[in-house]
Amino acid sequence: MRHIAIVGSGPAGYYTAEAALKQWKDDVRVDIFDSSPVPFGLIRTGVAPDHQSIKSVARRYETTALSDNVHFVGNVMVGRDISIDELRDLYDAVVLATGAPNDRKLGLPGEDLPNVFGSAAFVGWYNGHPQFAEIHPDFSHDTAVIVGNGNVALDVARILAKSGEEFEGSDIVAHALSALEGAHIRRIVILGRRGPHQVTMTPKELGELARLARACPRVDPADLPPLAQDAALDAGMRKTMGHLRSFAMAGGSANDNADDGADDGADDGADEGATIVCPDRDIVLEFDFFAAPRAILGTDRVEGVEVERTHLVDGKAVGTGETYHIPAGIVIACIGYQTSRIPDVPYDEQGGRFANVEGRIKPGLYCVGWARRGPTGTIGTNRPDGFAIVERIDADLGPTGGTGKPGRPGFEALAETRGIDFVKFTEWQKIDEAEVANARHGAPREKFVEVDRMIAKAHPSVQDS
Ligand SMILES: Cc1cc2nc3c(=O)[nH]c(=O)nc-3n(C[C@H](O)[C@H](O)[C@H](O)COP(=O)(O)OP(=O)(O)OC[C@H]3O[C@@H](n4cnc5c(N)ncnc54)[C@H](O)[C@@H]3O)c2cc1C
Repeated sequence: MRHIAIVGSGPAGYYTAEAALKQWKDDVRVDIFDSSPVPFGLIRTGVAPDHQSIKSVARRYETTALSDNVHFVGNVMVGRDISIDELRDLYDAVVLATGAPNDRKLGLPGEDLPNVFGSAAFVGWYNGHPQFAEIHPDFSHDTAVIVGNGNVALDVARILAKSGEEFEGSDIVAHALSALEGAHIRRIVILGRRGPHQVTMTPKELGELARLARACPRVDPADLPPLAQDAALDAGMRKTMGHLRSFAMAGGSANDNADDGADDGADDGADEGATIVCPDRDIVLEFDFFAAPRAILGTDRVEGVEVERTHLVDGKAVGTGETYHIPAGIVIACIGYQTSRIPDVPYDEQGGRFANVEGRIKPGLYCVGWARRGPTGTIGTNRPDGFAIVERIDADLGPTGGTGKPGRPGFEALAETRGIDFVKFTEWQKIDEAEVANARHGAPREKFVEVDRMIAKAHPSVQDS
């Protein structure tokens, strides 16, 4: 019998458990630990609340979660409630699937001013992550600045731009919906150090901006590269450029680049980004390319951003010396994430993840997903990671399989002596039922945003006694 501990119940954790079941069938027991009482990692607290079809992927993990050979062990933080070495003594293999929950810092003066947030905090706030429920963003100023040119920046811009009605069918938490409904934001500026060809935004997410009820996306036509240069891009990026070019036309200015008469046979993405016209919209959503933030300005709170104009040299953004100020009342940096350290686990400072060679950290200790690769890729990118690590563990354990370690009974004995109040998958299902029952009209659920309330649903008799 093989006893495997997986730390983290996000996509990487569940794909690893699925792979373990496929590889070893009845000859494996898998325990999936999570510091949260509720499973699924960023599917619950990262993926946007108005992207319910993406969030529904979690339902697919239930087949794995409900297998007799897999157990969820929620509300246990590895590194605090139980150490890595204790886990390694209990299990034949320990796989860290802890993601990358910490914001990368901007490294700019003023970034600690009130109302400057990283995307982990801001996204966690509107998605009901207990750690960020109390950040209280202030939306009283008319301008928000978002730093970053990836899909998370797009999520944040879209959430800021939507009206209350546009959140129908989403599971945005009540505190965020109410704050956003009272927001005074009229201008959202998305800063990118480089240009349109360097964005990491996907066409589907970009296209959504063209369908917002009260916001109009704008691109300065002067920032667009000549249309002929799109021919060298892959199909996805050509579609992305189609959208950005349509946003340039929406501004009402002539788009010299997009309409330069060049007949180079390139797909200009026009079908993906038909010209949008947006008169009388309340909110302008501006893409400011070739724009590097240099300082967050303000005394008691953020009052603006100092920006330096850049140009590209060998694909890198280099400052031109020309600076300008954007007055703003809130700044959200969407510039990437880092894995949290765990005592006794080697860390790769540069990559912001665990130091590993193809997922191996040290004997008996492995990593997958964002904890292994860093914060890139979609949910599905984590699946091959999970399957590959199980093959490696199989090779390392050899044909005899387990090493005689106790696995779950050993953990339960330790939990008993230490008073660890862990949450099982069936207990998460009680939390789930209560959240669905508490949903406001038209919403799939109203999430609990306090750990105590989650635990009260999971362990009602303990709380009552
Ligand atoms: C804002 C945002 C939006 C996104 N939107 C999409 C999208 O629309 N579509 C898409 O395909 N991808 C999206 N992604 C990417 C996707 O969420 C990731 O690819 C995926 O979640 C990474 O999986 P993971 O399992 O490595 O990490 P995570 O999902 O972060 O899971 C890590 C888990 O580990 C737990 N954990 C951490 N430390 C410990 C510890 N010490 N002890 C115990 N447990 C611990 C955490 O509580 C968490 O449950 C988005 C990402 C972000 C940040």
